[in-house]
Amino acid sequence: MNDLYVLYRGPLASCNYDCPYCPFAKRVDPPALLRADKADLLRFASWVAETTDRRLSILFTPWGEGLTRSWYRETIVRLSHLPHVARVAIQTNLAARVEWLSDADPQVAALWATYHPGQVNLERFLDRCRRLDTLKVRYSVGVVGLPAHYDAAVALRSALPPSVYLWINAADGHVYTAAEEQRWTALDPLFGDSVRPHPSLGLPCHAGETAISVLGDGTVRRCHFIPTPLGNLYDGSWQAALRPRPCTNSLCDCHIGYVHLKPLGLRDVYADGLLERIPVAFPAPAVPS
Ligand code: SF4
Ligand code: SF4
Repeated sequence: MNDLYVLYRGPLASCNYDCPYCPFAKRVDPPALLRADKADLLRFASWVAETTDRRLSILFTPWGEGLTRSWYRETIVRLSHLPHVARVAIQTNLAARVEWLSDADPQVAALWATYHPGQVNLERFLDRCRRLDTLKVRYSVGVVGLPAHYDAAVALRSALPPSVYLWINAADGHVYTAAEEQRWTALDPLFGDSVRPHPSLGLPCHAGETAISVLGDGTVRRCHFIPTPLGNLYDGSWQAALRPRPCTNSLCDCHIGYVHLKPLGLRDVYADGLLERIPVAFPAPAVPS
C-alpha cells in the first residue's frame, strides 16, 4: 500500500496546563489565531478526505493542547471514518473529557497521552484512561523523565493495566547516569531509544519519502526538525519532492522524528502503532515495589 505518514501542526499554541518545563504553559491564543487554526485544520481535513490515492496515517502535534478545541475533536471523528485513513491520532494532556471518542472509529482514532504530575492528580488521569479502555480507543501514556517525576511515574505504571504501554521521554538537557537509565528502563523497556539523541547526519530517513510534516498554511517539510520546505500541500508541489534522502541534521532527539530514521528499524517495533507510540510488543515492565 502507498503509505504516507503525516504530522500536522497548526498555529494553535495555547494550553490549559502550566507545566514548568514548557514554553506553552498557560498560553492564551487570541481569537483571531484560534479562528485561523480552525480554518487551517478544516482545510487540511478536506485535503485528507480528497487524497484517496494513499493510505494516510495522521498525527496532530499541536504546540499546545488541541482536544479542548471542538475542531480537533470533530476532525478526528470525521477522519477516523474515512476508508483510506489508517490512523488519526493526537498528542494530548488528556485533561478534556473523552466521551466524544464514542463517535469515532476506535480501530483508527488513537491518543498519545502525556501525564504531567503537578497539573493533574493521578486518579483523575487514570479515570480518563479507564474511559478510553471502555471505549476501546488505542492510547499510549507517557511521562517526561525528570527526577521529580519518578515516583509519580512508578505510581502510574503500577496502576495502569500491563497491556497499556507507558513511555518515558528523556528530559531535555538532562544527562542520565547509568543507574538512572536503568531505573527508567525498568518502567519503559524502550527508554534506551529516548535517553540519548541519535546521531543522524547522512543516515537514510523515511522523512521526506513516506513521512511528511505539514504546517497550518500547507507548507510541507520532511519533518518538524528540518525547516527547508519540500513544497505546499495544497498546490501538489510536495509530491515531486518525495524521495529517499539522508538526514541533514547532526542529531535527531525526538520520538516523532527518529521513529523514521531507517537504521533504527522502529517502524518494525511500532508497526500500526507508530504514530500513537504503541509498540507491537514490549517486555513486562518491572515496577519497583
Ligand atoms: S500540557 Fe503539554 S503543552 Fe500544556 S503546558 Fe504541559 S507540556 Fe506544555
Ligand atoms: S532523522 Fe530526524 S531530523 Fe533527520 S530527517 Fe529524519 S526525522 Fe528529520
